[in-house]
Amino acid sequence: MNIFQKNSEIFNLLAEGVSEGIIVVNKEQVIVISNSSAEEMFGYEKGELLGKPLDTLIPQRYHKHHDQHVDHFISKSEKRQMGHGRDLHGIRKNKEEFPVEAGLNPFELDGSVFVMALIIDITERKKREQELSHWARIFNESLNEIYTFDATSFIFKDVNKAAQHNLGYSLDELQKMTPLDIKPHLKQSEFVKIIEPLVNDDTGKIKFETTHLRKDGSTYPVEVHLQLSNTGQNQSFVAMILDITEQKNYTENLERTVQKRTLQLTEALENEKELNELKTRFLSLVSHEFKTPLSSILTSITLLGKYKLTEQQEKRDKHVTTIRKKVKYLDTILNDFLSVERLESGKVNYNIEEFPLSKLVNEVVYDANMLLKAGQKIHYPENIDDVFIEFDEKTLELVLSNLIHNAIKYSPEDSTIDILVKTNPNTIELQVKDNGIGIPEEDQKHIFDRYFRAENALLTQGTGIGLNIAKQHLENLGASLIFKSQQDKGSIFIVNIPKEQKT
Ligand code: ADP
Repeated sequence: MNIFQKNSEIFNLLAEGVSEGIIVVNKEQVIVISNSSAEEMFGYEKGELLGKPLDTLIPQRYHKHHDQHVDHFISKSEKRQMGHGRDLHGIRKNKEEFPVEAGLNPFELDGSVFVMALIIDITERKKREQELSHWARIFNESLNEIYTFDATSFIFKDVNKAAQHNLGYSLDELQKMTPLDIKPHLKQSEFVKIIEPLVNDDTGKIKFETTHLRKDGSTYPVEVHLQLSNTGQNQSFVAMILDITEQKNYTENLERTVQKRTLQLTEALENEKELNELKTRFLSLVSHEFKTPLSSILTSITLLGKYKLTEQQEKRDKHVTTIRKKVKYLDTILNDFLSVERLESGKVNYNIEEFPLSKLVNEVVYDANMLLKAGQKIHYPENIDDVFIEFDEKTLELVLSNLIHNAIKYSPEDSTIDILVKTNPNTIELQVKDNGIGIPEEDQKHIFDRYFRAENALLTQGTGIGLNIAKQHLENLGASLIFKSQQDKGSIFIVNIPKEQKT
């Protein structure tokens, strides 16, 4: 019976009350005492460990090493924690190893040296530590930026590698900064407002978009996912950041494409509308503008058939003139209309040639004479034989006849229409001047709009096409068309043709 057994009651009282395992070995490292926590921990029956060498509880690979330690320990007679800086393991009766923490406590009793070992099974703690270090690794190695920062001071506590790398700051630098230092567009007051629902516990998580500023001054758009963490002593925020540069680029590209397509679609729709309008105009043109001249042609033809006598030649001539006038009118508006179609579809072919202006003026005036109202006269220059023009002759004919027909249409009987030709240094100027109804001031800005007709012109037949196409054709060829007009006084339309024609 050893001294411990002798004092077993006192020992039991002291040792059985503690949850740590207690083992006492003598100088020979033979176990002289074990409490039930130690026996349970190592899987032995009560008293089974007594007399066994301490090595029974230590995995084989540590034996030699361990002996030295304990010897050293006993000789120094110091109290200390074992296993600093390395893992200690125990071995159960069933050969299962498990991590332990042991504190050694040498003492003397009755002149003999003993060592008391306090042993704790740290299997659970180790597991938790491993789990924690696993999470720490995930935190640190995540490719998303992860930050934790103090809930009161906002100073960063921890920042993972991805964040350090992307921002260009070291952890040391970041631990002196707050999220506001890397969010250039966010004021402290705004930030406080954003996190308010988290602080008030109204929500568990918030998400917002902002911009991050790198150390080098560049920025990138981010989506911040923020939550409050209550682990640890102080509350802190945990922020997960997604760099949404790609997403933003994608969205912006998408928006740009949508905008472009919408524009194309609007244009296509606009064209479609224009075409539809053109069709409608054409139909109303045919029904209104064609109907009147056609019925007067029909009347004249019917009457022509009735004047059979020789002395009725004068009457016949009158009706032939009417028919010619009306056919000429129909021909003009039909040409105008075809011009619109050609200009619209871009199918206009101009043929630039040099020709004498007098020839064109004579032809146009000759045709226009048929349309003159009673007493109307056209004055045109007789001395322009030497004026040559390099232009598309058909176009100029269309323009000039439109202008002269308008002058006739919008002037009263017995009035005079003047055609003037001026040779300027760089241009040849053609003017068509009348003393007619003029164009009201407020309508003047619309006069070249397609289908536009001034208020005071509505009682006269017309389509509102002529001036529009005349101007377009002229401008296509580098020429211009302007006008001056005064209501009830008259109008003057001026065509300017450059002398040097570009083809
Ligand atoms: P239309 O004569 O067939 O209506 P135009 O395009 O030739 O179409 O002319 C557009 C409008 O300009 C006319 O409806 C008229 O109101 C005005 N206009 C054109 N020429 C004259 C003119 N010489 N005098 C007064 N108004 C004119």
